[in-house]
Amino acid sequence: MQIPTEPIGSIPRPPQLIEAIREFQEGRQTQEKLNALYEAALRDTIYRFEATGSPVITDGEQTKPSFATYPVDGLPNLEPDGVSVPFADGHVRQLPRLASGPFLYKTHAASFLERARQYTKVPLKQAVISASLLSLLYPQESVPGYSQEQFLGDLIREAVTDIRGCLDRGAHKVQIDFTEGRLSLKLDPSGELLQRFIGLNNQVLSHFASSERARIGVHTCPGGDQDATHSADVDYAGLLPNLFTLNAGNFYIQLASEKDRLRVLRLIREHAQADQTIFIGVIDPINSRVETAQEVRDRVLEAAEFIPLERLGTTDDCGFAPFSDDTSTARETAFEKIRARIIGTELAAQKLGL
Ligand SMILES: [Zn+2]
Repeated sequence: MQIPTEPIGSIPRPPQLIEAIREFQEGRQTQEKLNALYEAALRDTIYRFEATGSPVITDGEQTKPSFATYPVDGLPNLEPDGVSVPFADGHVRQLPRLASGPFLYKTHAASFLERARQYTKVPLKQAVISASLLSLLYPQESVPGYSQEQFLGDLIREAVTDIRGCLDRGAHKVQIDFTEGRLSLKLDPSGELLQRFIGLNNQVLSHFASSERARIGVHTCPGGDQDATHSADVDYAGLLPNLFTLNAGNFYIQLASEKDRLRVLRLIREHAQADQTIFIGVIDPINSRVETAQEVRDRVLEAAEFIPLERLGTTDDCGFAPFSDDTSTARETAFEKIRARIIGTELAAQKLGL
């Protein structure tokens, strides 16, 4: 038996691509040249991902503008002045705001999967953005002629379609990015917002059979952009008991960068349900130092004291570049870290006699 190991999703884009995206936005680059660079980045990412020996790979999100905004990028009914997310180093990411209804995705995640499939036979997982994050696009003051209730109905339908499309096209796993889970406790320490997020995501998940939910996972992290987090100071004890009430079969949990991993592992043991597989983060994408395979092995062995082996897997704490313009991590470093995760997880499996 092997211990399953999966990436989260994003890989830093090649510098030439980042430069070309900026030039294109400024009207100094052609669509044709940009498309060629996207294609080259995608091909190179998959090639290098395969070379790490990773049993499951992604497209590195090379063609996504960001993990959160890919469905709405280019929609005409958005304004740029939505909710702001402040990071610990002072930088801010701002979501768009819905200016008029109806709310429909422009791009579904299955399109990324299909494009990547042209280049590889290795199992591909696909990340999708949660309905709860996109719910933040609806403004407080409401949209004329389009109620919040109508919006949530459309949002749930689109989020279900997004996941269903990936399952139908053979995604190894579909991972719902839920970075706003931990953040919500910072915005609303009462936990009410978190409950609303979980309720919304469970409405989406209720459209899937339990056999399908076994292929659906949820990723939690304190954010990871330009080597900074947005909610690492929020206590996991507020999030984890609630997190596992999400009706998903897999959880991808940031752990490597936690100060007190044993405490988090105890919380997981106490609150995860018997049919939920736990992929623990053994690699910290924010730290530029590459973990050794031995370190990874020891983190897995540590986790195996708390999580039954048949329900234990490994992952990275977060994507390596959730936003397309993030240059804080070198591409080479990301792949070296992934390699350490693969080898370290294998070493742990050997040690555990699997
Ligand atoms: Zn993350």
